Amino acid sequence: SEFCRKLPKVELHAHLNGSLSINTLQKLCKMQRSDTSCDETFMDLNTSNFSSLSECFKMFDIAHALTITPQAVFVATCDVIKEFHEDNVIYLELRSTPRAVEDVMTKTEYLQAIIKAIEASKSKFPQILVKLLVSINRKQGYESAEENINLAMQFMEKHPEHVVGIDLSGDPTEGDSFLELLKTSRKVGLRITAHCAEVPNEIETNDILKFKPDRLGHCTCVHPSLQGSQQLFDTLLESKIPVELCLTSNIKCKTVSSYMYHQFKYLYKAGHPITIGTDDKGVFNTCLSKELEILSSIFNIGKQQLKELSALSVQYSFASIEEKNNLTAVIENFD
Ligand code: 5GP
Repeated sequence: SEFCRKLPKVELHAHLNGSLSINTLQKLCKMQRSDTSCDETFMDLNTSNFSSLSECFKMFDIAHALTITPQAVFVATCDVIKEFHEDNVIYLELRSTPRAVEDVMTKTEYLQAIIKAIEASKSKFPQILVKLLVSINRKQGYESAEENINLAMQFMEKHPEHVVGIDLSGDPTEGDSFLELLKTSRKVGLRITAHCAEVPNEIETNDILKFKPDRLGHCTCVHPSLQGSQQLFDTLLESKIPVELCLTSNIKCKTVSSYMYHQFKYLYKAGHPITIGTDDKGVFNTCLSKELEILSSIFNIGKQQLKELSALSVQYSFASIEEKNNLTAVIENFD
């Protein structure tokens, strides 16, 4: 476990508001109301287990209610970066859905607050390189998706070193994957990662695979032993698209019944490109080293292989070639 903690790590699947620690939630709560009602509110979050994916989605409301001003978004982002850094993450791709709050914050101000936090953290924690992916919440509909894509394009133009891609996420049981819209952003050079097959949906999964995003999230229901899914699994393998895997998240949301049955095992065995992420380290009470420990204890993945996974994740990241070379050197030099 000492090894997993010290290993220079690469996090490619982290949602900002799901990554807020109890400390941060408490801090934000106190910023919002100056009474003492904040002290115990968040303690039971640590032990949360959810009955379903929808149940776990309710958790985001708690964080969202506390990040309704640019100042709060700034503080939240700074804390998340600091905590990933403390876990020896050297490269972090944060993703977040731009949110407007009437009379208080526009979507542009929301993103500006995150950029400001990334820049402030750069001098404070130079060992961690941070990028931003702008998320689309599929549940929020076409107009919102279009708005977020336009914002991502504007921000990439202004901050090409920080804003590098788009993430398609949100409750997979609702909404659309907006693949046509995503084509526009791809043309201007934004990279795309799409949550895929978190719930069974063969038609959409096929459409997403055909679209060929740069990376895929979860792919829970693309599983060789799931009835009728063998063909999807083969199509995924053929595509060679790297898959972001978040084990604790899938187990706690019960989208995967047990670690032994997790798609990690099958994808890893097939030599398919994968990267390990936390998803929502606050909501699921985890961190990247814990996720690697799971690989080591449950799947018997050795130190050398963990280091290799970390180095390969650099290749699947949306960093520049020069940045990738630097990150790889840090990982290679670790022993
Ligand atoms: P935010 O985008 O507000 O910074 O982070 C929270 C949001 O990320 C949630 O409202 C949801 O849209 C998205 N999200 C977090 N975890 C998951 C997940 O496991 N699956 C999907 N599809 N979306 C998620």
